[in-house]
Amino acid sequence: RAKRQGKNNYKIYSDMKDISSYKKYILDKDMRKALKNEEFEIYYQPKVNTEGIIVGAEALLRWNHHEWGLVSPGEFIPIAEENHFINDLGDWVIKEVCVQLKEWKEKGLTLRPIAINLSPIRLMKKGLVEYVKQQLELYQIPGNYLEFEITEESLLKSDHTVLSTLEDLKSIGTTIAIDDFGTGYSSLQYLREIHADTLKIDKIFVQHITDENKVDAAIVSSTMHLAKGLGLKVVAEGVEEYEQLEFLKQNECDIIQGYLFSKPVALETFEQMLQTGYLLPSKKKLSLIPEV
Ligand code: C2E
Ligand code: MG
Ligand code: MG
Ligand code: MG
Repeated sequence: RAKRQGKNNYKIYSDMKDISSYKKYILDKDMRKALKNEEFEIYYQPKVNTEGIIVGAEALLRWNHHEWGLVSPGEFIPIAEENHFINDLGDWVIKEVCVQLKEWKEKGLTLRPIAINLSPIRLMKKGLVEYVKQQLELYQIPGNYLEFEITEESLLKSDHTVLSTLEDLKSIGTTIAIDDFGTGYSSLQYLREIHADTLKIDKIFVQHITDENKVDAAIVSSTMHLAKGLGLKVVAEGVEEYEQLEFLKQNECDIIQGYLFSKPVALETFEQMLQTGYLLPSKKKLSLIPEV
């Protein structure tokens, strides 16, 4: 591995095909130090009901790398999963969210459940439920203020211990959401085994629900029907346009998450949103708003 070669790094970089493998190498090398140096930050993306009332938020990691600037989780999460740093990083997210919930409570803000993405690596490692329980107790947060999002894809990668871990998470009051629903190439059988609380319909479907050919409209509306039949809440992810919101309202979607209401925002901005309690759909042309 390049990582262990010290002095010969230069040679290794020059062997690397492109900047992206060099960047990967640096990110891999820097992540542990970055956590200590407070380069990681949690952004919050509100989830609203169809009236715009904030009903929760998703915690999303950001890395402000001292040289590369803002690095997206799409880049560093796969590396962290590969080198297993995701275990420490994921535990840090859980702790930070509990700290915030306690602070919001002390500030008199109305608490909303916060969803945390859970890597299959952490899900399969021992001690997760104990850790979560410990953090909840430490900051005196009822379990139902945390929701864990797991992807279908990660369930495919997981082993049989995962089912009982998920049950244990439910027994301490935290809830389970299936993230990126519809993208994991898995069978629906797992829905019988995992007693999830929420289905999150992936943005790739939501973004095409108003297409002329109605394919994604059919997928989304039947997914909502399926979820309702199973007694699950539905979150539509990646809602960017007013027409998509209209479609979702007509199909009785419970919860909306997407740029139409808000991008993921830094802590202070999210606190202001909690203070107000609701959001209005954006009227601006979304493509003109810079990415965070
Ligand atoms: P995800 O859990 O499916 O999160 C939703 C992603 O969709 C976020 O990307 C969010 O910024 C983006 N998004 C939300 N609304 C819209 C929209 O209207 N349009 C578009 N185009 N995108 C929208 P982000 O923050 O880049 O995160 C990417 C993925 O990285 C997440 O996907 C999740 O799988 C992973 N991730 C982020 N934070 C964590 C974490 O703390 N732990 C773990 N294990 N994974 C994380
Ligand atoms: Mg998620
Ligand atoms: Mg998702
Ligand atoms: Mg995703």
